[in-house]
Amino acid sequence: PQPNPQVGAAVKAADRAHVFHSWSAQELIDPLAVAGAEGSYFWDYEGNRYLDFTSGLVYTNIGYQHPKVVAAIQEQAATMTTFAPAFAVEARSEAARLIAERTPGDLDKIFFTNGGADAVEHATRMARLHTGRPKVLAAYRSYHGGTQQAINLTGDPRRWASDTGTAGVVHFWAPYLYRSRFYAETERQECERALQHLEDTIVFEGAQTVAAIILETVPGTAGIMIPPPGYLAGVRALCDKYGIVFVLDEVMAGFGRTGEWFAADLFDVTPDLMTFAKGVNSGYVPLGGVAISGEIAETFAKRPYPGGLTYSGHPLACAAAVATLNVMADEGVVDHAANLGAQVIEPGLRALAERHPSVGEVRGVGMFWALELVKNRETREPLVPYNATGEANAPMAAFGAAAKKHGLWPFINMNRTHVVPPCNITETEAKEGLAALDAALSVADEHTA
Ligand code: PLP
Repeated sequence: PQPNPQVGAAVKAADRAHVFHSWSAQELIDPLAVAGAEGSYFWDYEGNRYLDFTSGLVYTNIGYQHPKVVAAIQEQAATMTTFAPAFAVEARSEAARLIAERTPGDLDKIFFTNGGADAVEHATRMARLHTGRPKVLAAYRSYHGGTQQAINLTGDPRRWASDTGTAGVVHFWAPYLYRSRFYAETERQECERALQHLEDTIVFEGAQTVAAIILETVPGTAGIMIPPPGYLAGVRALCDKYGIVFVLDEVMAGFGRTGEWFAADLFDVTPDLMTFAKGVNSGYVPLGGVAISGEIAETFAKRPYPGGLTYSGHPLACAAAVATLNVMADEGVVDHAANLGAQVIEPGLRALAERHPSVGEVRGVGMFWALELVKNRETREPLVPYNATGEANAPMAAFGAAAKKHGLWPFINMNRTHVVPPCNITETEAKEGLAALDAALSVADEHTA
């Protein structure tokens, strides 16, 4: 497409005048005016093109503008743009059927929401009603969404400003060997000690007061910490021992991101409730939901579930989900994510770690990778302090600017960059992104000591 800086300037001016952006000091941001996107790339009005290693907010799992999904949305719009949630509607029924077919175990009933946060709200409400208990346990290093309950459950600093009305939320430490809270030196120690800590938390909170434990199967925004072998099975066992509902949040990790349909498949665990959103329809139309076990569904078989949404299972969003899930199956996107992750992304990132002293750790799976950037590999001191802003965050800002200069749009959170491209990115594109990262890491290296 032809660059059109004049249109770009008008888009930007109206944005600056009227759009209030998420999580931002409104006058300190400078949003890029985006002219278009296709596949793994997007471009601005000035003629700059970027390879998107963020998948938007880790949701365009099949890239931008997949023609089959666009066509399905257009067709749904032409036939039944919307219909109220109390009715049985083809797109909604089919989306629920396809999702239930893929979710682990007997998670066979789907409650649709508009996104991830409200899925978390409803999952925890279901758990409290099912058990009659008040508390939910969540991990410190986590993100569960921006609505009130979901932000309270969140462990990362975005929670702090909204920590009012937190009754019933308790945080604990989940495993993270690189920065172990348990003085562990091996994955096995980390796993055992994290499980002991969780059991202690349950017992000291009073097991009979704990409705649910919620965990991201693989924590996403908080750092892509793959749980050690046995941890999630151990949490499952603790939930069974104390009659607690196990909720896995697969909003980011689900739908191919880890090279499995769901991250739970990597660990062979089945939760009682599973939240999803994002990749379910590559984020083309807002959609989320909760997959519900037979036992919990039974609680609401004769007793009404006290919750709902005007747009629960919106036909446009569900048609996009049906098309996305079919595209993922037909094009082998999940296996592609696993294979490209193992054969190209992982070795590529490990090679970068060898060359760049700023890389403290490489971890991940599938299309879900984190590079932890450090000042010093021995001390593991982060390249920027926890939750740094302004001048203190300058080294990460310089890294980000360098990546963009090389045509790569990077995902940055605190002292980490995450490599989370679309799950159907090609090998050539992945290598192009790795080369840009190589250049940008040289800038990060300048801040090591
Ligand atoms: N849960 C997880 C694990 C997430 O990563 C997110 C969003 O990033 C959410 C919940 C919230 O989803 P949404 O922004 O759609 O409300």
